[in-house]
Amino acid sequence: MSEEKKDPPNENPFEQIQKQLQDMFKSANIHVTPMGFQQPGTEAEEGGDDSSFAPEEEEKSPLLDDIRNFHLKPRDIKDDLDRYVIRQDEAKRAMAVAVCDHYNHLRRCLENPESADKPYLKQNVLLLGPTGVGKTHLLRTLARMIGVPFVKADATKFSETGYVGHDVEDMVRDLVRAANGDTELAQYGIIYIDEIDKIAGANSGGKDVSGRGVQTNLLKLMEETDVNLLSQTDMMGQMQAMMEMQRGGKAPPRTMSTRHILFIVSGAFTQLSELVQKRLSHHQIGFGQEPAEAEASTDWLRQAETQDFVKYGFEPEFIGRLPVRVAFQHLGVEELQQILEQAEDNILSKYIEDFEGYGIKLNFSEDALRNIAEKAAGENTGARGLMTVLERLLRDYKFELPSTVVKELTIDAETLKNPEQALTELLEKNKHARRGLYVQEAAEFAERFLEQYGIDLKFSDSAALQIAMMAEESGRTVHTVCERLFKDYPYGLKLILKHTGKSLFEVTEAMVKDPDGILSQLVVDSYRKKDKDNGEENESVS
Ligand code: ADP
Repeated sequence: MSEEKKDPPNENPFEQIQKQLQDMFKSANIHVTPMGFQQPGTEAEEGGDDSSFAPEEEEKSPLLDDIRNFHLKPRDIKDDLDRYVIRQDEAKRAMAVAVCDHYNHLRRCLENPESADKPYLKQNVLLLGPTGVGKTHLLRTLARMIGVPFVKADATKFSETGYVGHDVEDMVRDLVRAANGDTELAQYGIIYIDEIDKIAGANSGGKDVSGRGVQTNLLKLMEETDVNLLSQTDMMGQMQAMMEMQRGGKAPPRTMSTRHILFIVSGAFTQLSELVQKRLSHHQIGFGQEPAEAEASTDWLRQAETQDFVKYGFEPEFIGRLPVRVAFQHLGVEELQQILEQAEDNILSKYIEDFEGYGIKLNFSEDALRNIAEKAAGENTGARGLMTVLERLLRDYKFELPSTVVKELTIDAETLKNPEQALTELLEKNKHARRGLYVQEAAEFAERFLEQYGIDLKFSDSAALQIAMMAEESGRTVHTVCERLFKDYPYGLKLILKHTGKSLFEVTEAMVKDPDGILSQLVVDSYRKKDKDNGEENESVS
């Protein structure tokens, strides 16, 4: 980036906004500073800010009870992870140990604040593996188990830090948001940064826009730094903080230390496996069978050493701060089928819940699950392939079936051969029964009409049947057909109610065929009745 930012001060958009805010809030006697909002009489000291958060024994927030009572052993964690994450045993074991060490340390710090001052080597973790193999899933499950907030960020969005877009500290602010604004809890959270391999070796000429610049910023964050919680670019956050103070609330801490945050980074590192292969092939001449490509790549990654990462484009200091390294394994057909059959809360259960929402029971035969796993493996996106295949398979079913009488759907190998045709056949088979449903839907429309306008509609059998036929022919729902046919009825019938006191109307077949004509006639009649009634009243008065 050759152009330095040399904008005249009055044209800098941030300064302009800040000035506007300063003007707006002058009356509240609150100053907007480059560090965020300051209450009158307080000074924002660089570094030594007493509102930054450090764990204090006296503050016994119940939010930290999970950490205070942390008692899990690595085996407990692995056992629990086994319920949700298929395979990835090496990753589960490494993560279980890293997490237990980290949260045991934090528990001790809470029990005895003096131990917080002792040197401690944080077990930041580097995960290696392709997309869709369960990295995020595993970490999210872990964070939930421990009871700490979790955020995921993408390293590529930090590529131009300091110039445009996000800076690495945004992740810390996101973590506070994930903890519902509670900095006490947020400081013990987990930050996960994906696509870390994309910031390797992108040095484009020494400027801070390079991957190495981002590495340096990340390094600071992973070590220990105080992050300003009110970002200069986060006007909304600044305004919220100001409003909170105006309401007489406690001023939120302005900074938070990253000392206790557990950082986990990951990447696919596709070319890294080639580097490792090259290094190792100096020592051994290849014997035996070549494993399949994807598994082979994971095997090489497992043997990656610091020197390989440095060659790949990482600063030795950066990679040195990631002592725990673990490779995720490729997921084949077998594993994908296991995800569908054994993993708790898996993607299939989400579809089953969606259908349940419409009162439809969704079943899969075993051979159908195998077939889905095979198709998903062909997508080459790990378990994400399952989502793609299921979405493609079930989208039309989800659209059509809720408006039918179908209450159970079984997907078998036959369905998978031609899902569109299977759906058409199912709809045809239920066509007759569908009429009954249409009649019921007309009655539901009448119910809603009564609730909304206080007017009771009674559909005659022939009118309901007529509407059912119109819905069937147009491919629309009964609700839409009724809304269109009777769009002027709320106004017209209320007028009649006013003139005549009548609130019960029979919807006849003739009305369905000519809704506007009949409504006009009814309204005219009601005016006549009103005039007649008025006339009679006048006569009786005179
Ligand atoms: P990534 O490795 O790219 O972070 P994700 O963890 O986001 O992949 O995986 C996408 C989805 O696939 C997850 O939400 C989860 O439902 C499913 N999934 C992936 N791997 C596994 C696994 N090993 N066991 C169970 N489900 C998995």
